[in-house]
Amino acid sequence: MTPLSSLVAGAIDLGAVLLLALSLKGLSRVRSARAANGMAALAMGLAVLGLLLQEQLSPTAWLWIGIGSALGGLAGQITAQRVPMTAMPETVALFNGCGGMASLLVALGVALFDSAGSGLTERISIVISVFVGAITFSGSLVAMGKLQGWIGTPAFTQSRLRHVVNLSLAGACLAGALLVPAHPGGWALWALVLASTLLGIGVTLSIGGADMPVVISLLNSYSGVAAAAAGFVVASPLLIVAGAMVGAAGLILTQVMCTAMNRSLVSVLFGGALGGAAASSGGDGDQEYTRITSCSPEECAMALECAERVVFVPGYGLAVAQAQHALRELAKLLEANGTQVSYAIHPVAGRMPGHMNVLLAEADVPYEQLVEMDTINPEFPRTDVVIVLGANDVVNPDAKNDPSSPLFGMPVLEVNQARQVFVVKRSLGAGYAGIRNGLFELPQTAMLFGDAKAVLNGLLSELRDLGVGKQAAAAPVRTPVAA
Ligand code: NAP
Repeated sequence: MTPLSSLVAGAIDLGAVLLLALSLKGLSRVRSARAANGMAALAMGLAVLGLLLQEQLSPTAWLWIGIGSALGGLAGQITAQRVPMTAMPETVALFNGCGGMASLLVALGVALFDSAGSGLTERISIVISVFVGAITFSGSLVAMGKLQGWIGTPAFTQSRLRHVVNLSLAGACLAGALLVPAHPGGWALWALVLASTLLGIGVTLSIGGADMPVVISLLNSYSGVAAAAAGFVVASPLLIVAGAMVGAAGLILTQVMCTAMNRSLVSVLFGGALGGAAASSGGDGDQEYTRITSCSPEECAMALECAERVVFVPGYGLAVAQAQHALRELAKLLEANGTQVSYAIHPVAGRMPGHMNVLLAEADVPYEQLVEMDTINPEFPRTDVVIVLGANDVVNPDAKNDPSSPLFGMPVLEVNQARQVFVVKRSLGAGYAGIRNGLFELPQTAMLFGDAKAVLNGLLSELRDLGVGKQAAAAPVRTPVAA
C-alpha cells in the first residue's frame, strides 16, 4: 500500500468514527434522529471503503465484500421498511444477534486460519470476542423468540436452567483460561464457543418476558463489547472505537430503562436464574373491578369541547391500533377550538425506549407538544381532561400509593390528579405488568371502551357534529403546557 492510499484510508476511518459519534449524539433527540440514522449508515459505508483501501485485497475478496455489503444492506432496508413499530424490540434483538455472530466469526476466523503467531493481547481479545459474541448471538435469538411468543419458560425448568448457567459459566472460564497461554485453537476453542452459547441461552431463557426489552438493550451493549474485542483481534481502531461507543450507549440505555421501570439490573438478570420472583409478570390483572364508570364517545366529546387544557397519554395500545394519525386530527380540531393540547410521554411507554416519540413523529405531532413525565406531572392538577390512549401501567397510581403493588416505586404519569380522566382501551384487561389498575375505579375516571383508532374517529365525528373547529380561523391557538 502506498503512503498516499494509507493516508486516505486513515482519513476515511477517522471520518467514519466522527460520523458515528455525531450520529449517536443526534439519535438522542427526536428532531435530529432521522438524519443521525443516515449519518450512521454513511459511517458504515465509509468503514467498508476504508477497509477496501487499506488491505491488499484480491479481486475475489473485493467481490465477496461487495456481495456481502449489498446483501446485508438490502436485507436491512427491507426489514426496516416492513417491520411494524410494535415488532421493533424483536427486530433489534435479531440485529444484536447478528452483531454478536459477526464478532464471533471474526475471532474464530483469526484463531483458526491465521497461522501467524499471536501475541497475548490478541489471544485475550479472541477469547473475549468469542465469549461475548456467542453469548450475544444465542441470548439475542432466545430474546427474539420469547418476544415473538415462540419460546416460553415453564416454571419447572427454572432450577434446571440454573444448573445450565452455572456449568456453562464454569466451562467457558476453564476453556478461556486454557486458550490464553497458547495460540487459540483445537477443542478448547470449540468448548468455549459451546459453553458461551449455552450460557447466553440459559441466562436469557430464565428472564421474565416483562424484562426482555431491558435484556435486549443489555445485549446491544454486549454486541458493542464483542465488536471492540474483535477490533483488537484484527487491529482495527475503527472497530474498537465503534464497539466501545455502542457498548457504552447500550449500557447507559439499560440503566435508564431499569430506573424508569424501578428494577435493578441484578434482579433483571438473575431474578429468574437465581430462583427469585420472575419480573413483574403474572400479577393480579384479572382481579375484578367493582366501581367502573364507562361512557360514550358523545359524553367524552362534550367534555373535550369545554376543556381549556387537554393532555393525551399515549401507550402501547395506541401503537397497536395505529391510531396516531387519528389522534393528530383530533388534537388539531381541539386546537382550532382554542384548547391547549399536550402529550405526556413516559420513558417506558410502549415497548421500547422512545416508542411514543417515534409513533407521534410519524403523525407530524409538533415536538414541543411532547412533554416528559417530570415536566408534565406538576401540570396535571391544572388539566381539565386527560385522555389515556392504550396506556395502562404507566398511569397506574398504585405504583405510588400501594406498597404491595409489583409496580410500587416505578415513576408514573400522575393523571389521577387531573379533573377528568378518560381511559380508552378495549377491555379491563391488564397491561404489560399483568396487574390491576386503581385508576379505572377513581371517581374522576370514565372508561371509553373500544379500539383506540375507532374511538378517536368516533370522537372526531362527535366533535364535528357539535360544530367544534368551524370557528377555526377566529379562535386563537393557545400554547402547549410546557416545552
Ligand atoms: P401497557 O401497560 O402494556 O398497556 C397497554 C394497554 O393497551 C393494554 O392494557 C391494552 O388493554 C391496551 N390496548 C391494546 N391494544 C389496544 C387497542 N387496539 N386499542 C386500545 N387499547 C389497546 O402499556 P404502557 O402503559 O405503554 O406501558 C408499557 C409497559 O411496557 C410498562 O409496563 C413498561 O414497564 C413495559 N416495558 C416498556 C419498555 C419500553 O422501553 N418502552 C421496555 C420494557 C418494558 P386492552 O387489551 O383492554 O385493550
